[in-house]
Amino acid sequence: MLKKIVKTQRNFIIVKQKLCVEFKCVPDCAQCCIEREYYPSKKFGKIGILILPKEKEKMEKLAKEYDMSINILPRIGVSENKNEKPTIIAYQMMGVDTDGNTCPFLDTKTKNKSPHGGYPCKIYQDRPLACMTYPLIQNNPITLDEKCKFCKEYGTAEENLQSEIESLVKIKTEMNTSMPVVWRYATGIGEERDLKKIKKGWFLEK
Ligand code: SF4
Ligand code: SF4
Repeated sequence: MLKKIVKTQRNFIIVKQKLCVEFKCVPDCAQCCIEREYYPSKKFGKIGILILPKEKEKMEKLAKEYDMSINILPRIGVSENKNEKPTIIAYQMMGVDTDGNTCPFLDTKTKNKSPHGGYPCKIYQDRPLACMTYPLIQNNPITLDEKCKFCKEYGTAEENLQSEIESLVKIKTEMNTSMPVVWRYATGIGEERDLKKIKKGWFLEK
């Protein structure tokens, strides 16, 4: 708990107390491993879990070990100019449902549970950095994804986010590039009612 001394206009001194909220997953929740969003708009389809190039092979190997097939698409590419083919700096692992939801490594079939009671991750120790980062989307100032159930309940948190911060910094470092042109890949995947609006392939970032 932080104590902040505040001087009022009349020079009275009051002590303001600010509660330091500790981040922890909401009981029984596995929402972030299930629900995928359209990003940055419907045109780009549902996004998958961000996978760095160096994580791609590891995910494919794990899928093989679990005897499952996974769909990894490009996510972000960069190039020196608009006529050049993009170099991929991030991939995305798509959900297994036809609408793009549900990570292939989420165990929804057995009765196993995660420590907080949700569906467990089959590859928890080896999960991608993006999963280790969530729900943190910015570290300075700390910003959490408002779609996370914890965030809906508490808004933000000040404590218990150190490992998420470290993972986010690693992702930013890995994706750092001097190439001026940025491309985003449209996945072509989403709800049936939205399919007409959804594209597939590379588009230049504005
Ligand atoms: S990070 Fe948020 S959305 Fe994901 S399981 Fe925890 S509380 Fe739920
Ligand atoms: S890899 Fe694990 S933690 Fe990451 S989205 Fe899939 S089930 Fe969730």
